[in-house]
Amino acid sequence: MNGDALALVNPRHPLAEEGRPHLAAPDARFPRVLMERRAAARLRACIARVGGQGQIVPVSGFRSRAEQQAIWESTLAAEGEAFTRRYVALPGCSEHQTGLAIDLALAAEHIDFVRPHFPTQGVCGAFRRAAPRFGFILRYPPHKQAITSIAHEPWHFRYVGAPHALFMQERGLCLEEYLELVHAHPWGTPPLRLDTPAGAYQVGYLPGDAPAPPPEEGWHMQPDNCGGRVLIRRHERRRAV
Ligand SMILES: [Zn+2]
Repeated sequence: MNGDALALVNPRHPLAEEGRPHLAAPDARFPRVLMERRAAARLRACIARVGGQGQIVPVSGFRSRAEQQAIWESTLAAEGEAFTRRYVALPGCSEHQTGLAIDLALAAEHIDFVRPHFPTQGVCGAFRRAAPRFGFILRYPPHKQAITSIAHEPWHFRYVGAPHALFMQERGLCLEEYLELVHAHPWGTPPLRLDTPAGAYQVGYLPGDAPAPPPEEGWHMQPDNCGGRVLIRRHERRRAV
């Protein structure tokens, strides 16, 4: 489990401080596009699974706050404020700063950096179907803009880990909605059950600075950038997938 894989970063939950995660390139042909190491490895595996090497291009991964600021300013100058507010997150509020987000494009001579073309058919469609098993969600789906504050972005994927991703996909939840559900299961009350093709898990929540459960209970803790920690543990032996 990645420690920060469930961090919620949006206009209401900016990153408190800039950390620089351990980074790796998911595709060696694009050494400047980096992700958090575990997310990079899972993205590489997912692209390989669907035979997408050379066809699926990582366009933008980890960005520092300064890089996000530069993208905001250049998009503002070129496209105006309405477009920029629709498609570019404010500096401090972009999940690209976590290293867990990736923008993908179908390989082409000219790739739009802000709105890459990543269709729903062919190898890109195969990637979309496989992504949750490798821990990725389509972060800004259609019909969720009122909740996410970001327009539909068919190119932007976010690593959250397979159990969470599979559950969110099955229930049709975006990350904000999923965390709201998790927050309703504080530790000590019956946990949320995730029965997924990647195995069965229990999920609970520690709000604020509530004391952690004893280590022998086997919970992993994942800070959510909302002031608390998500708890997750295996519920039974993992089934083959
Ligand atoms: Zn993006």
